[in-house]
Amino acid sequence: MSIKAHHVGIGMTSQRTRERLIQRLKEEGIRDPRVLEAIRQTPRHIFIEEALASRAYEDTALPIGHGQTISQPYIVARMTELIIDEGACQCVLEIGTGCGYQTAILSTLFDKVNTVERIKPLLEGARRRFAEMSLRNIRPRLTDGGEGWPSHAPFDAIIATAAPEEIPEGLLAQLAIGGRLVIPVGKEGSQVLARIVRESETRYVREDIEKVSFVPMLSGVK
Ligand code: SAH
Repeated sequence: MSIKAHHVGIGMTSQRTRERLIQRLKEEGIRDPRVLEAIRQTPRHIFIEEALASRAYEDTALPIGHGQTISQPYIVARMTELIIDEGACQCVLEIGTGCGYQTAILSTLFDKVNTVERIKPLLEGARRRFAEMSLRNIRPRLTDGGEGWPSHAPFDAIIATAAPEEIPEGLLAQLAIGGRLVIPVGKEGSQVLARIVRESETRYVREDIEKVSFVPMLSGVK
């Protein structure tokens, strides 16, 4: 991935805070070197407003406007670990672009990244950042992604960064054989992160990973 110099020119202090974040993620159990490297390479401070930028490398979620948040680095790392495979990573769908941080991480690990967002100003901000960072393998779209993006299916991996109360059928149908879906599910206050692997045409295996707290998946575009 190429990151333009002005994004990297944030001084040694920031480099050190970034290294501390990587250290912390390791302590929290993130093991995959590809994921740790993607996080190390991706400047999180450009995805949040300037007033909060000094907190960019804390392991915490932060507000991005419109009642939404940038996910906590730990959860971004964990979910990314859960959808990348041993083999070649090809095509991924993300539901809930938000500010685009998770998308940027995915763009270093997958050949093609499809991402959908229902709030127009958030998607526009994300698009601008992808262009500034010269991330050319991302296809962003303003749409309700609750039922995925059928015309671009099947996907080797699907990641949802907003929580529906139940797993949408459409997402299961859009997984390639061997494909992985990682999604927070449940009502606010009692969500669990689920990983579903499509083992064959008809066989899906679900594993519940840990308790999580995500914004709800909503319908419609605004
Ligand atoms: N991926 C982001 C997380 C953004 S928060 C990150 O890296 O930090 C989740 C996002 O999901 C919000 O921006 C919200 O608007 C969006 N969202 C919620 N329901 C959606 C839906 N049905 N379709 C598309 N996006 C949705």
